[in-house]
Amino acid sequence: MNKKPIKRVVIAGGGTAGWMAAAALAKLLGKNLSVSLIESDDIPTVGVGEATIPTLHIFHRLLGINEQEFMAATNATFKLGIKFENWKAQNDDYIHSFGFLGQGCWAAGFQHFWLKGKEKGMVTQIGDYVPEHLACREGRFAVLANQEQNHAYHLDAGLYAQFLRKIAEQHGCKRVEGKIQTVTLNEDSGDISSLTLASGETVEGDLFIDCTGFRALLIEQALHTGFEDWSHWLPCDSAVAVQTTAKPNPVPYTRSIARDAGWQWRIPLQNRTGNGLVFCSKYVSDEQAKAALLANIEGETLNEPRVIKYKTGTRRKHWNKNCIAVGLSSGFIEPLESTGIHLFQRAIVRLMLMFPSNGIEQADVDEFNAQSRADVEDIKDFIILHYHQTERTDTPFWRYCKNMPIPDTLAHRMDLFAGTGKVFKKAEELFGETSWIQVMLGQGIMPKQYHPIVDMMSDDELQRFLNNIKANVKRKVANWPDVNDFIRHYCQSQ
Ligand code: FAD
Repeated sequence: MNKKPIKRVVIAGGGTAGWMAAAALAKLLGKNLSVSLIESDDIPTVGVGEATIPTLHIFHRLLGINEQEFMAATNATFKLGIKFENWKAQNDDYIHSFGFLGQGCWAAGFQHFWLKGKEKGMVTQIGDYVPEHLACREGRFAVLANQEQNHAYHLDAGLYAQFLRKIAEQHGCKRVEGKIQTVTLNEDSGDISSLTLASGETVEGDLFIDCTGFRALLIEQALHTGFEDWSHWLPCDSAVAVQTTAKPNPVPYTRSIARDAGWQWRIPLQNRTGNGLVFCSKYVSDEQAKAALLANIEGETLNEPRVIKYKTGTRRKHWNKNCIAVGLSSGFIEPLESTGIHLFQRAIVRLMLMFPSNGIEQADVDEFNAQSRADVEDIKDFIILHYHQTERTDTPFWRYCKNMPIPDTLAHRMDLFAGTGKVFKKAEELFGETSWIQVMLGQGIMPKQYHPIVDMMSDDELQRFLNNIKANVKRKVANWPDVNDFIRHYCQSQ
């Protein structure tokens, strides 16, 4: 283990992950560190990570990023949720929004009240009790004082990397252009000592952050850390992406449309739309996937469709020796719930919390790895839920997903909800109760029972309680401006 003080941090790779790491380290710890980033102009970034979740606010607040400035610089739009179309069944849809469900009581969440109301014919869809859900459908938005957790963004990944690069360089990060050819290890410790570029230049460091994407040049190719394959649960292994001209007045949510052997995304930016088809190559060829995507887009294409290959799973350790994997080098779950950038930011913030200024301690490494593992495990279960809990049996892909064995942890959550309507968020888990409830109901799990405490209310009281919450949601959202008027005003006042 490297007990040397850490003075020089070298970031390998300048995609979203690399520049997020560089901006955060340079701005927040840079006074006492030398931070450099190596990227190769000849190796393109993946560049399709364009939908985010509300936790991005935490990262932006840490870096002091102004929302209007950021949105104008990245052609961003607001995102209040994801609409899942054809996932439960063909021609069926539901929204997973970022809001919180109406209030329940100490013993039982709101879903229990809604479930009894449903039995009695007193309620409408669960989304009518979540402001952001209704706002998705009505195309409304407002920046809510003290509630800024409830919206995210669609952004241009390339522009976002440039935006972060400016911050990193302003705070002293040194950018080195060149292709890393050799990773040199210290013969005694096995730690990485330097990276040698094709030009012959050598960059030495004390701590290395591997942001080289799926190549995982340091963490895997040099350190042979190992990868845990999750493709038996998450069988999609390819994506084809293309950009199209913008649609006027885009919706404030990502569209996720289930297709024969995967699903299609539509991500509206201010100036264009990002489209992609995630698919399983066992059932669909690249050419068939390209044709299927091009047959289902709106507007003019702005570039040639590009195919990206990947394997779902996680690196066995995200921190190994003096190398920390951030970004796709640490593994990849699925773009379905837009958790990529969130996981990058979690790793970066975690590294800063445990920054080994005086040398690397094994306890820090172990803690970092345990926390990273917990993050990806919980997200993995949530994503598998979407594929597995379906009525679809119309294609071999959906039959596989419906019948595949699932992790015990997920099976338990589904049983608990199906039996009694209960959902519990784990302490540090990303997706909370409202997310699990929206997706489990949306995918067709209807609990058999509600909590008996609901029967303490008379039917009249229950009806009034449910009506009040729904009316409040409606009133609140009716006061919010049209989302596109809001964005035009917000970004133009920059
Ligand atoms: P990359 O973009 O691959 O960057 C790698 C960098 O390493 C590049 O700068 C490259 O030049 C450099 N590099 C590699 N090898 C060398 C070398 N030998 N020498 C020098 N430099 C080198 N995330 C979300 O949050 N939301 C989404 O909606 C979303 N959608 C996704 C859809 C798909 C299909 C995929 C695959 C991923 C998606 N992600 C999403 C995940 C993620 O946000 C992006 O993939 C991310 O932008 C790219 O991650 P990265 O920076 O780790 O890697």
